[in-house]
Amino acid sequence: MPLLTEDFKEKLISIVGPENVEDSQSARLVFSYDATPLYQSMPDCVVAPRNTEEVAEIVKLCNEHKIPIVPRGSGTNLSGGTSPVNGGIVLHFRHMNRILELDEENLTVTVQPGVITQQLIEFVERKGLFYPPDPSSMKISTIGGNISENSGGLRGLKYGVTKDYVLGLEVVLANGGIIRTGGKLAKDVAGYDLTKLIVGSEGTLGIVTEATLKLLPKPKTKKTLLALYDDIDRAAETVSKIIASRIIPATLEFLDQPTLKAVEDFAKIGLPTDAKAVLLIEQDGDAETVQKDMEKIENICYEQHAISVQTAKSEQEAHALSAARRSALSALARLKPTTILEDATVPRSQVAAMVKAINEIAKKYDVTIATFGHAGDGNLHPTCTTDIRDKEEMERVEKAFAEIFEKAIELGGTITGEHGVGQMKAPYLEWQLGEEGIRVMKQIKQALDPNNILNPGKIFAKETRKRVILHRS
Ligand SMILES: Cc1cc2nc3c(=O)[nH]c(=O)nc-3n(C[C@H](O)[C@H](O)[C@H](O)COP(=O)(O)OP(=O)(O)OC[C@H]3O[C@@H](n4cnc5c(N)ncnc54)[C@H](O)[C@@H]3O)c2cc1C
Repeated sequence: MPLLTEDFKEKLISIVGPENVEDSQSARLVFSYDATPLYQSMPDCVVAPRNTEEVAEIVKLCNEHKIPIVPRGSGTNLSGGTSPVNGGIVLHFRHMNRILELDEENLTVTVQPGVITQQLIEFVERKGLFYPPDPSSMKISTIGGNISENSGGLRGLKYGVTKDYVLGLEVVLANGGIIRTGGKLAKDVAGYDLTKLIVGSEGTLGIVTEATLKLLPKPKTKKTLLALYDDIDRAAETVSKIIASRIIPATLEFLDQPTLKAVEDFAKIGLPTDAKAVLLIEQDGDAETVQKDMEKIENICYEQHAISVQTAKSEQEAHALSAARRSALSALARLKPTTILEDATVPRSQVAAMVKAINEIAKKYDVTIATFGHAGDGNLHPTCTTDIRDKEEMERVEKAFAEIFEKAIELGGTITGEHGVGQMKAPYLEWQLGEEGIRVMKQIKQALDPNNILNPGKIFAKETRKRVILHRS
């Protein structure tokens, strides 16, 4: 039975206009799922506000009628974060996609949530400035989505993640109130840090309608190299050795052989598919430092028995290499009908142990798992290519991932380094936070959204999964 009455829909139409309220079967179907396989629920309608005031009016109306709201950027999240579990409305930011101000004196840019990440990056780079957070999905993901997931990217090792660049926010609260947090200030300790609270809150605490982001001067040069290994452990150990030598590369990415093969088949740029693992390493900064760092890094790679180290000869070649790395998920997704990508993350000193454990677990459950990821951040993406129609295999896949999360926690890591909890990781959150940690988070949610209308059914699970008891020989 539809949750929304005709009267309610009329009220929505009076706020945003008839062209911005869609409730056809096809429109609802399009917004019933996101980039995460296995999670799908129909919304009752899709609403596209044009400004903050409209968002506030919609939220006030939904709060009065206790109608769920699912804010949505491009739906590229990988945690089932935008599927409307309890129906209600999907709030889509396609009209709120403007860059509002570039402030070159304060080095900030102020944007609406629907701005596409890559468009923002290219816009500021044309002015000689730099916005580092670069999720692999940046061609389509939105800044609102990046903020709400606290997304990372290939440049996270040296430059940090989205939260490190959010200075201020305009947020519509669950009661329809509008607040501003932070601003253009480099220093501001007035009260609780609500900006940080909202960043990464997955649309469950408030709706981001504007963001002021920090910019950096654009690095003068960049160099890229590819180190090839015939042993995965050697590649993983190189990661720790580079960091231990006090060099922080801009990018330090790992791809295992199955990922490499899939990427080469997809991108066709001549990647060495006979290598067991590769590291894609980039350094940026002034020319002299970059040159020195890259020489040191090359030596470390050879000390760790890299079979070869190739430096990109041109900017185009360097670009092709990082573009190929960014295509890893799409490339793997071509292999089987269903692709499940996870983001178990460990301290970077444990990358070798985690990669080894992932391969053992895949073998134990007889499932196919390729691994790639932001190795410098300890953020690995074990990716299972499977078929949702094979129920028996799906059970083994689920068990394998539960064991991977268990192992990540055992190694001092986390169940998610950048993709968020959403629905997918909710049953595992208590493993990491404990009962008290969950209780505190629920209290925050209750205080800000007492009617539980903002993206309900996310982060907090009805039931925590039983922990797997690891039996190792
Ligand atoms: C091929 C591929 C590669 C990826 N690579 C990376 C990567 O390298 N690093 C990484 O971190 N992630 C990556 N992701 C995951 C995903 O792209 C990021 O989480 C991204 O930030 C989501 O942006 P989006 O616009 O698609 O948001 P959506 O998926 O639409 O939404 C994400 C969350 O934000 C909430 N939300 C959206 N807009 C608002 C708003 N205005 N106010 C409040 N809440 C809001 C939603 O409710 C949801 O909880 C990848 C995904 C894919 C498919």
